[in-house]
Amino acid sequence: MCQPHGHAATRARVDNAWRRMLYSVLFFSTAVVTRFATRLAPDATGFITNMSRAIVCLTFDFDAISGWIARGMTSPSPISRGEFGPHVGAPRILDLLERHEIRSSWYIPGHTLESYPDACRKVADAGHEIGHHGWTHRPPASLTREEEEHELVRANELIRQLTGRYARGYRSPSWDLSPHSVELLLKHGFVYDSSMMGDDYTPYRVRQGDVITLEQPAVFGAETKLIEMPISWTLDDYPHFEFLRTPTTILPGNMNANAVLGNWVDDFLYLHENLEWGVITYTFHPFVIGRGHRMVILDKLIRTLKEHGAVFTTLEDAAAEYQQRSGQAR
Ligand SMILES: [Zn+2]
Repeated sequence: MCQPHGHAATRARVDNAWRRMLYSVLFFSTAVVTRFATRLAPDATGFITNMSRAIVCLTFDFDAISGWIARGMTSPSPISRGEFGPHVGAPRILDLLERHEIRSSWYIPGHTLESYPDACRKVADAGHEIGHHGWTHRPPASLTREEEEHELVRANELIRQLTGRYARGYRSPSWDLSPHSVELLLKHGFVYDSSMMGDDYTPYRVRQGDVITLEQPAVFGAETKLIEMPISWTLDDYPHFEFLRTPTTILPGNMNANAVLGNWVDDFLYLHENLEWGVITYTFHPFVIGRGHRMVILDKLIRTLKEHGAVFTTLEDAAAEYQQRSGQAR
């Protein structure tokens, strides 16, 4: 055995213990001060970020009856199902948003703009963003390039008539872009798309010219200036709630709304607790979310997110903030 002996050894142990404690306190204080200072530092936009900036975009795809028509379901019952949107759902939603003083984004097909002009006018008059959602509700991947461009131009003229300017944002019907979509969106002056799922809370630049084939490695195209404001089926009301039977498939829908609400809140909390800056985009349809028990959870969602400091904006404003943060107009 070899031990230091007597008082000298005891004093050495005490000194070491004090030193370790002092170092711990110093280390901890420095970490706290550094973190606090980092959080108070102005970010690229000039905002003082004394807490995470969790942006929430409530978005509404105002399909009305166009989605059923695109599926060939034109008999009175499916038409009435879509009609619930402009007749009942949209007024309820507009009231709720007004009570909460929230501006949102509405993606409206040209078919809805022409078939329900008064309902669309009310959305625009309430100050919500009007985005592009095709003219018919056919996904671009099912159209030729000419058909896709015709739809872009035709519906965009209607949006200009309604709002005084062309749409800044595009959301593809059924979230299925074609190989021509990015080129056409850039050609027609769109700032952002909201049809892809490559991230959850962080917008990104869309690539153009990917070559994807079955038996060769993917060749990825270059990034463009088009901003993607990503979406997700999990944050979309339709697959959770709508029952749909086709000759080959059944979408069961009819989920417990409070269970879905739990997922939606947790997705926000993850953003709030783990990212300094990010955007979460919820997608709703007036004929889906406009039903009683679903309006209850939409109200609960807004209240809960507000309690956690959510910042509600349109997708257009969130895209602009991303552009500013990422530092350039390319
Ligand atoms: Zn739609």
